[in-house]
Amino acid sequence: MIETIYSRFLETRKISTDTRKIEKGSIFFALKGPNFNANEFAEEALKKGASMVVIDEEKYKKDDRFVLVEDVLEALQGLARYHRDQLKIPVIGLTGSNGKTTTKELINVVLSKSYKVLATQGNLNNHIGVPLTVLSIEDQHEIAIVEMGANHVGEIQQLCSIAKPSHGLITNIGKAHLEGFGGYEGVIRAKSELYHHLTLTSGIVWINSKNEVLSNMSKRFLNPLFYPQKGNYYHCEFIDASPFVELKAENGERIKTNIIGKYNFENIAAALCIGKYFNVPETDANRAIAEYIPQNNRSQIIKKGNNTIILDAYNANPSSMASALENLSQMSAKHKVAILGDMKELGPESISEHEKLGADLSSKHLTDVYLCGDMIKSVLKHLPDAKYFKSKADLIETLKAQHFNQHVILIKASRSLGLEEIVEFIH
Ligand code: ATP
Ligand code: MG
Repeated sequence: MIETIYSRFLETRKISTDTRKIEKGSIFFALKGPNFNANEFAEEALKKGASMVVIDEEKYKKDDRFVLVEDVLEALQGLARYHRDQLKIPVIGLTGSNGKTTTKELINVVLSKSYKVLATQGNLNNHIGVPLTVLSIEDQHEIAIVEMGANHVGEIQQLCSIAKPSHGLITNIGKAHLEGFGGYEGVIRAKSELYHHLTLTSGIVWINSKNEVLSNMSKRFLNPLFYPQKGNYYHCEFIDASPFVELKAENGERIKTNIIGKYNFENIAAALCIGKYFNVPETDANRAIAEYIPQNNRSQIIKKGNNTIILDAYNANPSSMASALENLSQMSAKHKVAILGDMKELGPESISEHEKLGADLSSKHLTDVYLCGDMIKSVLKHLPDAKYFKSKADLIETLKAQHFNQHVILIKASRSLGLEEIVEFIH
């Protein structure tokens, strides 16, 4: 069955999973979600130009343009696996608690100096996104970079069975999605699934030697390649991040980036390390990093009057929160303010993690701390002077009445809070 679908796939190389975005000649995979059953839209997909529809409920089959399989998602994954097996190029698998997408973009710009690269689009990093990414690898591509995300133990292993990475990197291991992983141990176990896959298949492993958990784990690997410390396979030095990261590359060149956040130094180092491995000339790789402009609202800098806003409202978890606060506290600025919202998906550790955030905040001696959400109230335990708001509307009312002058303001919260909306009220 997979062979039949694959030979059709090779004709147009187009896959659709959404009837609102059908491309002519594509194969439509009728996936199921908690609130929908795309089997119902299979006929519509054909009307809109799909050449074949893959379904898993017999009653929707009308003619032989309908391919009936046992499970549509498994068929999509199986097709990607089949496609992967035909490819001879290096596939770099990338996972980690924080910084996957940023690092993927950075590796992409570095490798693109010398190769035709295919990298995950946006954040398509799950059980559907990974197969779609693999299926978008074409004959012209020389290297692929596949971002892999997970909320549960076993997911990365499954994604590895589809993308079959020959090379891999875990950006870091920290406290993210604790709820689904059943605690921090689960996070470590889940992320290490990528390295287990690479060990079993004699793949190449790059390791961030500054991350203690990863460094300990590396003892189990044959020839891991470390970065970014002295004596490592790739070495570079952090110079500054106020606010943009500056570093000294291995060849001595000073790189001034457009990327904010000290934590991004490690992400940049990973990209340069991988560039070295694939023989990208160092000056080209360094220039790629210097010229990279971050997209979307992951750590953006916004200037308003004489104030600087660090908008990092894309996501938040204990480790990324700690790095963002560390970054803020090291910036040279007269007044430093943090406007923070809930960190979601922490399960039973939610209260204690928010309390720890309070303790961390109190050691940073910021000018002001604003808190918004339900769970973040626990911060008050160690930081009773913080300004707490249950709703975003209340926070906005206060911000409207507030005048900032020469402030650096960090805005960070989990995605669902939509904290980027407050930016327009800061003045
Ligand atoms: P997702 O799980 O949503 O796919 P991701 O792992 O792809 O996230 P990015 O989107 O690259 O991560 O970055 C999200 C946020 O994580 C950044 O805005 C920053 O706050 C934080 N972050 C990025 N890199 C690091 C790092 N090396 N260490 C700690 N925090 C980081
Ligand atoms: Mg991502």
